[in-house]
Amino acid sequence: MSVLPIYTYGMPVLRKKAKKITAVDDRVRAFVQDMFETMHNAGGIGLAANQVGSLERVIVIDISEMEELQNLPPETPGKKPMALINPEVVREEGKWIMEEGCLSIPEIRDEVERAEHITVHFKDLEWNDCQLTSSDLLGRVILHEIDHLDGILFTDHISKIKQKLLRGRLNNIRKGECDVPYPIVTPLVEEKKISCVNHNGSRRIKNRVYGDSGLRGAESGDSSEQPLSCGRSCHRL
Ligand SMILES: [Zn+2]
Repeated sequence: MSVLPIYTYGMPVLRKKAKKITAVDDRVRAFVQDMFETMHNAGGIGLAANQVGSLERVIVIDISEMEELQNLPPETPGKKPMALINPEVVREEGKWIMEEGCLSIPEIRDEVERAEHITVHFKDLEWNDCQLTSSDLLGRVILHEIDHLDGILFTDHISKIKQKLLRGRLNNIRKGECDVPYPIVTPLVEEKKISCVNHNGSRRIKNRVYGDSGLRGAESGDSSEQPLSCGRSCHRL
């Protein structure tokens, strides 16, 4: 297994629509394992293929360490890490707001309104047809990750005014000015990579110390701009 670099804001692959996977073979299984390792290495609870530069319709999720799942029966969805292939939302009801962060948009968080109750169809790694219904964090993560597969970022869901206020910080990420403890590829690095490839074929990846990102309940009432402590209330997607 390998830790893959995570593509950050401004990379074109994050704005492209991923294509359906037609079969699971050893390559797909290995890729999914790499995605799990990449997500865990970055302290994330969800990751979509676009975020590691692939346009295949697969997401991985692991919310098993979340406090709210600890006393639930083992068969509860989300108690085990999940890989969802070709996920498709077939039902959405209700609305709720939660603060989200994203491994591809470090150090930025904001409240996002999404459906409260969802049903999703997908294939598992054994190519079984699966259905999952969720009304909690799991559904929130699934919707965030499916958005990635469709080229949508959580910042697209916030108001135009807030988007304008974030423009400078987003541009900084685009320029590679973000500190994260996991390998990333930014547009600036991509440019360097291309120039390097022309000379000696090497590939440069940024890897700096990263404070936090987060997804947490808006009901917490904490709107501080200070980084969250990376305890159980701090989730990365
Ligand atoms: Zn994300």
